Amino acid sequence: MNKSKEIESEEDLVLPGDKIAVIEEFVPDDTCYEDEGVIYSTFLGKVNPDSKKHKISVQPLKKYQEVKVGDMGIGLVQFIKKQIASIDVFYINNEYLPVPFSSILHVSEASRRFVRSMFEVTRPGDWIKVRIIRTMKPVYVSLVGHDLGVIIAYCVQCGYELEFKRRNTLLCPNCDTLQPRITSRNFGKPLKLSLGSSLNETR
Ligand SMILES: [Zn+2]
Repeated sequence: MNKSKEIESEEDLVLPGDKIAVIEEFVPDDTCYEDEGVIYSTFLGKVNPDSKKHKISVQPLKKYQEVKVGDMGIGLVQFIKKQIASIDVFYINNEYLPVPFSSILHVSEASRRFVRSMFEVTRPGDWIKVRIIRTMKPVYVSLVGHDLGVIIAYCVQCGYELEFKRRNTLLCPNCDTLQPRITSRNFGKPLKLSLGSSLNETR
């Protein structure tokens, strides 16, 4: 077995859709694709150019390749609309990914009960525990299942970290307002510990 070498530098990584070369220089293989003379990566991984043979390929990052339906993810909510939330997944099964991938949560997957709007579910800046339900792009996630939901949330008015009041209701200790979220049973702990470093790194 040819065990692929561990990818050490995160800076070498490319995302799916990233431009990696032009067709004048290299011929793409099945790990990348050409569009109007430009070669793009199909995977999250490391670029391997072979200048002698004029071939280029992307070595997929193993962890990302292994994301399966049913895997647990932890992500940061980027934006919401009434029907959907866009979530960047930073952890899969509690393993930190050097480059997050984006996913979509549809309001129909927010709860077993009927939820009218994503504004009752989560807000941008929240950390949320999700289950992967589709691994092809676009990746889809669900909150239906044990322990899933918001684990860390911030006040929409003042930015203070919200406290647990009761299931699906959080309290801002600064504004003294109640704010709806679909909360995980793990809200506030213990996942917060594993997220500590990445919170500080978030740019
Ligand atoms: Zn507040």
